[in-house]
Amino acid sequence: MMELIGLSKSFDSKPAIVDLSLRVEDDEYLTLLGPSGSGKSTLLRVLAGLERPEAGRIMLGDQDITARPTHLRGLGIVQQNYALFPHMTVEENVGFGLAHRAQDPVTDTAEVARRVAQTLELVGLLGLERRMVGQISGGQKQRVSLARTLITEPKVCLLDEPLGALDANLRERMTVELRKIRKALGVTFFHVTGNESEAIAMGDRMIVLDEGRAIQIAEPDTVFDAPATVRVARFLNAYNLLRGSVQGGTFESGEVRMPVPSGAQSLSCAAVRYDAVRVLRSGAEAEAGAPALHATFVASEFMGSKVVYFFRMADGGMFEVERHLSSSDPETYGEGEHVTLSWRMQDVLFFDANGDLIELAQAKGAA
Ligand code: ADP
Repeated sequence: MMELIGLSKSFDSKPAIVDLSLRVEDDEYLTLLGPSGSGKSTLLRVLAGLERPEAGRIMLGDQDITARPTHLRGLGIVQQNYALFPHMTVEENVGFGLAHRAQDPVTDTAEVARRVAQTLELVGLLGLERRMVGQISGGQKQRVSLARTLITEPKVCLLDEPLGALDANLRERMTVELRKIRKALGVTFFHVTGNESEAIAMGDRMIVLDEGRAIQIAEPDTVFDAPATVRVARFLNAYNLLRGSVQGGTFESGEVRMPVPSGAQSLSCAAVRYDAVRVLRSGAEAEAGAPALHATFVASEFMGSKVVYFFRMADGGMFEVERHLSSSDPETYGEGEHVTLSWRMQDVLFFDANGDLIELAQAKGAA
């Protein structure tokens, strides 16, 4: 178990990590999601011992490793740029760290060979042992990089945007594989990503970082269904956000009118998931009482297993609708086609004046 207690780190008195506390369980896949500049790399560097925090402690089991040099921490690090030795073969790259590490180097060449073979099998690289790393694909390089770390049997493996350099197809495949590999080893993965679908697909738990603070730590489903703040909802890239205010018991945003959830003092924003929106065509109006707005079709985009439709609202803002191809055939709309977009009150999330989520049960109670 790794525990971070009140970690803070700033650069030129500008905070990058602010009072961050977190327990990382054994045998867990943890993803760290945040927009660019939110402090992800800094946190990883602090954990790896490449930066010293100004405050706080890092415990690994019952040991305080806050001041311990990187190579003595028992952590593995997988970087986005692979950091491989180009003049070595795949198996030499993977065996190198084991034979040359600071603690307990393995000097028996037969033992190194056995563990190299075992690790290459685990990451799916059998058959490529003798290739120079300059002669393999990006996805294979990423596997070598992973193998090189995993062979040292770290307790916790830090992965810095490990799939960032891969194309979308390969990334999806590696997502599944990374989960399998981690599970087979029972090692804890701490995976940093700026990609929300990756964070949701990979993690047993997710940490959402914003301006150096962990603003939500929860299972991906929870983060997805109940983002803690408007900003989290925004970087999940799954919600339409309607800014507005309360006028006489009704939340108003442009032409949209919705009843205010009971107990809510102030509201600044409502959120409707892309996949919870109905599209009504040919002048059809929404059911009485259902929130709705009028919009015109702009474009659609196929994204693997789903289609995203973009509609322009009267105020010029974009409203997105998503359909999974497993549940419906794609619709086609004409450019500029007028539609009514509608949704159910129970699918609406409300945020207060501070941008914090108003608890779901409360909001649903009013629906
Ligand atoms: P992320 O990885 O989420 O993009 P970073 O951890 O790289 O975010 O950066 C967090 C903040 O700390 C940013 O404001 C960034 O400019 C600043 N920062 C990071 N590293 C340094 C550094 N070595 N010197 C000065 N500022 C830094």
